[in-house]
Amino acid sequence: MKLLKKRILDSAIVLNENVLKVDNFLNHLIDIELANEIGKEFAERFKNKKITKILTIEASGIGISCVTAQYFGVPVLFAKKQDSINMETDKFVSQVHSFTKNRDYHIFVSKKYLLPEDHVLIIDDFLANGSACKGLIDIVRQSKATLEGIGIVIEKEFQHGRSQIQDKEVQIESLAIISSLKNNQVEFK
Ligand code: 5GP
Repeated sequence: MKLLKKRILDSAIVLNENVLKVDNFLNHLIDIELANEIGKEFAERFKNKKITKILTIEASGIGISCVTAQYFGVPVLFAKKQDSINMETDKFVSQVHSFTKNRDYHIFVSKKYLLPEDHVLIIDDFLANGSACKGLIDIVRQSKATLEGIGIVIEKEFQHGRSQIQDKEVQIESLAIISSLKNNQVEFK
């Protein structure tokens, strides 16, 4: 997606060889015009799928998922990173390793919001080692819903997350694929 790649080149900051900072347009301050184009692009790429729910993970997946969901006319369900008394007692749980914080944590989704008849599109801002997506896929499998696709805004190909989540039956779409962040430079595939 040209517009996204241009924005990455213009505004993203390469923190180191592994981490790209995009908090000035994607996951802290959100550029809604760009988010809207991202939503449109996901809608186009998954237009042949019958989606009933978008599943993401808090916090940075939520904004982009809400914008995208408007194009599908479906609700957004986000996995919570903390259990709380507000949550239903009956929930799906999975474990994720945080790429940015380098620690393991659990994610939770109430069973009443993810049903066997659902057709799910997973959306997230980044694909790095694939742990966040794997956790979300695990929750979809537990619910017996159908996983229709995975939409990623920025994939860092050199961290090989795709091979962790590859399933030949599931369509995976990344809007910008980065092959390297070496020498403070973003290189696209
Ligand atoms: P994974 O689980 O695939 O290793 O990492 C994906 C998650 O880690 C995403 O949900 C995202 O929030 C975070 N993440 C991974 N790489 C980056 C990065 O380069 N920059 C930022 N801002 N977040 C990242």
